Amino acid sequence: MSKVLIVKNLRAGYRGQEVIKDISFSVEKGEKVVIMGPSGSGKSTLLKCLVRLIEPWGGTIIIDGTNVMNHNVDIRKIRMKTGFVFQSYNLFPHMTVLRNITLPLRVVKKYSNKKAEEIAMSVLKIVGMEEYANRYPLQLSGGQQQRVSIARALAMEPVILFLDEPTSALDPELREEVLQTLRKIARRGKSMLVVTHELDFAEDVADHIILVDQGIIIEEGPPNEILYNPKNERTKRFLKSIMRRMKNSNS
Ligand code: ADP
Ligand code: MG
Repeated sequence: MSKVLIVKNLRAGYRGQEVIKDISFSVEKGEKVVIMGPSGSGKSTLLKCLVRLIEPWGGTIIIDGTNVMNHNVDIRKIRMKTGFVFQSYNLFPHMTVLRNITLPLRVVKKYSNKKAEEIAMSVLKIVGMEEYANRYPLQLSGGQQQRVSIARALAMEPVILFLDEPTSALDPELREEVLQTLRKIARRGKSMLVVTHELDFAEDVADHIILVDQGIIIEEGPPNEILYNPKNERTKRFLKSIMRRMKNSNS
C-alpha cells in the first residue's frame, strides 16, 4: 500500500506558544484515521498545518508524494488535492447548492459549466442531496448543509478528505444523517482523516485511532484497542468524559 499522507516530527504554534509538539503519523491510501482528544489539545491546528493554512514551525509533511514543506511547492496545488470539511459549513449563502459546488470546479479546476454541473449532480447524489440542487443553504437544515459541504469537498476528487469535527455543531438528531453520509464515502474507499468524538462512528469506520493530548500523540492503534482496552490513563479519562457527555445529551 502507498501512503497518501506522511507527517514527521511536526511542530507548530501561535506567537511562541507551542501547540503541536513533535507529531508523527501516516495515512495509507484508502485508510480512515480518526483523531480524538480533549478540547484545546491541538487537533484543528494539526489539520490546518497539513495544507499550511497555519505555517508549521518544523517537520515534514508529504501529501501524495509531494513535500508540502518545500519552499518551492505550489501550495494551491496541494490544497486542490485535498478536501476540507469544517465544523461549520462555510457555504456561500447567496448561491444555490449547485453553484456552491460548481464554482470551485470552474474557477479552480477550469472545468466547463456543463462538466462542473455533471460532477456536482453526481456528488450531490452520493450525499443524498440531488433534489436540493436549486435551493439556497439557508433553506436547508444544518445536517443537509453539512452534506452539501461534504459533496463540495468530494467534487474536487481529493486524494484525502480532512474533516474537523463535522458533526459537533449539529443537534444530536441531525448528526446521524451526516455520519451515514461519511460512512458511505468511507465505503467507497476514500482516504479520510477525521477529527471526531463520535465513538460509534470511530469504532465502525476507523482503521486507526490517534489520541492527541497537549500537542502530542499519547496513544494510537485500532479501534478495539483504543476504545475498549486503552493503556494510557489520560486516554481512559478522556473516553470516560466523552461517554458521560453522550449520556447527558441523550437524556
Ligand atoms: P482543538 O482543535 O484540539 O480543540 P486547537 O488546535 O483549536 O485545539 O487549539 C490548540 C491550542 O491553540 C489552544 O490552546 C488554543 O487556544 C490555541 N489556538 C488555536 N487557534 C489559535 C489562534 N488562532 N491564535 C492563538 N492561539 C490559538
Ligand atoms: Mg478543534
